[in-house]
Amino acid sequence: MLIKTILNRVEPFKSFVYGKVKLVEDMGRPTLEVEVQARKNGRAICSGCGRPGAGYDRLSERRFEFVPLWGMAVYFVYAMRRVDCRDCGVTVERVPWARGKCHLTISFRWFLARWAKRLPWDEVAGIFQTSWRNVFESVKHAVYWGILHQEVDDIEAIGVDEIQWQKGHSYLTLVYQIKEGMKRLLWVAEERTEESLRGFFRLLTAEARQSIRFVCSDMWEAYLKVVAEQVEQAIHVLDRFHIMKTMNEAIDKVRRSEAARLEQEGYEPVLKHSRWCLLKRPENLTDQQTVKLKELLQYNLQSVRSRILREDFQRFWEYTSPTWAGKFLDEWCTRTMRSKIEPMKKVVRSLREHRDLILNWFSARGQVSAGSVEGLNNKAKVTIRKSYGFRTYKVIEIALYHTLGELPEPKFTHEFC
Ligand SMILES: [Zn+2]
Repeated sequence: MLIKTILNRVEPFKSFVYGKVKLVEDMGRPTLEVEVQARKNGRAICSGCGRPGAGYDRLSERRFEFVPLWGMAVYFVYAMRRVDCRDCGVTVERVPWARGKCHLTISFRWFLARWAKRLPWDEVAGIFQTSWRNVFESVKHAVYWGILHQEVDDIEAIGVDEIQWQKGHSYLTLVYQIKEGMKRLLWVAEERTEESLRGFFRLLTAEARQSIRFVCSDMWEAYLKVVAEQVEQAIHVLDRFHIMKTMNEAIDKVRRSEAARLEQEGYEPVLKHSRWCLLKRPENLTDQQTVKLKELLQYNLQSVRSRILREDFQRFWEYTSPTWAGKFLDEWCTRTMRSKIEPMKKVVRSLREHRDLILNWFSARGQVSAGSVEGLNNKAKVTIRKSYGFRTYKVIEIALYHTLGELPEPKFTHEFC
């Protein structure tokens, strides 16, 4: 069988045919070069307006990188025609396998972009013997295409999340759509200011904004303010994931200052490596960690007491009646204030301040899925952590939309991966 036959099956063109296939050495590696020719009777298409035009001349041969085969790079080789278009003047023709000046074929770009969802970009570049830049450009192209073709009406519930992405205090604001069976990233912005979130609402039509019924977020003031101002009809829920996250951060703070103090006073650094057993729920602890927890409980430590308070708070989420939940919340807050543990008292103060929004959790239950943004938050962190080559905002933004945006892709004749 000829390679041409395979190509006609996976990548057929109407007005072009495959010619000779040559095996050549290119920079020390075997490479397949596939000649492409225009059909005899086919007229070149103007890349300006998409209409056929009179032939003008032919440029020198160009190589377009296609999906590799058997570990060999594959190139289409074609000399582009120029068109003398009545409307656009002299333009280079449009070909179905590539766009503009890009030397990667469209199929190869989607191929790289799909692999880049599964593997770090530098690995994709290494495996398919191409550059990091080519992988990035392919992903960027996939993201732009997807955003242009995605449907964003009918948004009933959104989750607003902040995430740290660089050392120090650099944050990103993420907005997700939360829907049964589909959670996707709709918006990424730098910082976690009011403007970061307002940018999202500016994208929406007045109608789309009106259709939002639930917003889940944490207790960050800038978000609270913008949500109240932009979608006043929506029920704003301070959700379980975000509240427990705040509490975990407080517990971690208690642990760190206590560990430092104990060490200073000459006690063994029992809390040093116990971060995970304090943050985990008991049923998720390994045997070894349980032993460590027992050891810890012998000390009457603030970290342990904070943890017990946190565990106790889990009961809050099991209430069905907002009234009873509210009573429990008030009682828990009083108890925690008496503990004299400063970071926990700080949690109490913000819980009290936002009592109504927290109790909204119970009115929204069953209508917004419980995990809200939890899974997405983890996925976003992994995306950021993976090596993407350059840690600039632009790259991270593209990477997040790519992995979390659930963006559509065009239909292909053949699925390469
Ligand atoms: Zn034209």
